[in-house]
Amino acid sequence: MQIHDLLNEFPRTRLMEQPTPIQRLDRLEEALGDQRNGVSIWAKRDDLMALGGGGNKLRKLEFLIAQAKSQGCDTVIAIGGVQSNFARLAAAACAKTGLGCELVLAQMVPRDSEIYQRNGNVLLDQLLGAHVHVLARGEDPIAFATRRADEIAASGSKAFVATLGGSTPVGCLGYADCAFEIAMQSAELGIEFDQIVIPNGSGGMHAGLAAGMALTGSSPSRVKAFTVLSPVETALVGTAEKVNAVLELVSSETRLAPADLTIHGSQLGAGYGMPTPAMLEAVRTVGRSEGLFLDPVYSGKAFAGLLADIRSGAIPPRANVLFIMTGGVPGLYAYQDVFRE
Ligand SMILES: *Cc1c(COP(=O)(O)O)cnc(C)c1O
Repeated sequence: MQIHDLLNEFPRTRLMEQPTPIQRLDRLEEALGDQRNGVSIWAKRDDLMALGGGGNKLRKLEFLIAQAKSQGCDTVIAIGGVQSNFARLAAAACAKTGLGCELVLAQMVPRDSEIYQRNGNVLLDQLLGAHVHVLARGEDPIAFATRRADEIAASGSKAFVATLGGSTPVGCLGYADCAFEIAMQSAELGIEFDQIVIPNGSGGMHAGLAAGMALTGSSPSRVKAFTVLSPVETALVGTAEKVNAVLELVSSETRLAPADLTIHGSQLGAGYGMPTPAMLEAVRTVGRSEGLFLDPVYSGKAFAGLLADIRSGAIPPRANVLFIMTGGVPGLYAYQDVFRE
């Protein structure tokens, strides 16, 4: 059975146009000169979606919003950090589909500036009409969301709680589907991608892609992730668990072990949402050579890892590398002090 037949079993609310384009970053290749080592660099533009500014969370939300509706929910409570892209896109998806939206935003990053707490995604959350709860440092977002869901139930409505990053097994189906999309585009372009480079945050994008690749019979180890949130060991174990939950959900017998996945820790720096010099360089390099925006928390760090791998020769000469651009541009506004020159 084809993977899209498996996925068609699940309700889905269309929030984006597919496929997103795959484009060659030839100006960046040129700018790298001798450092490029003959590597071809391609970008899958998952930042290029019309709704709510776009980004990787819309793929998960296509399945999560449909799940909420199928359960008779009229409100979505989404959990994230203050500058959560998932929260912003959940708010946009709710606006578009006529659901109420509450956002529970936890203090996951030690940044207290007015800019970080109010600009970027938080500004957009409010414009999208979400009811925003910004928690104090140390407050538990899951306990808060559960309490709100109970209050909403007591008032006669029904809330769907969407966990951090939307990385439930159902949410991960969005990137299992994307693995199939990439396989089709790869066949059309006549290019085998030797490596697919991504950030790993809550791990749902990685888990979905790896599960989708396992289902399409290609090797999940082709995905190279740079963790931006958890230490490598935790990320490997957590992501493998998610992969297997997705495989179980679609009634596949296949299972993966942490050793089947590739996650590197070189770009984590001081931790989640903490800028690194390599991230700043990657954001500027891609901006200046391609006119494209990476984000400071996820794609900027993963692209920094890709640039380091190209320059060090860790990627074999002549390899074709596909970088998934995941969006997150509003985060740049929350980090304007870090980028000031
Ligand atoms: C959430 C996010 C990621 C990481 O996806 P996970 O499924 O949480 O690992 C990458 N890039 C951006 C811009 C994101 O918002």
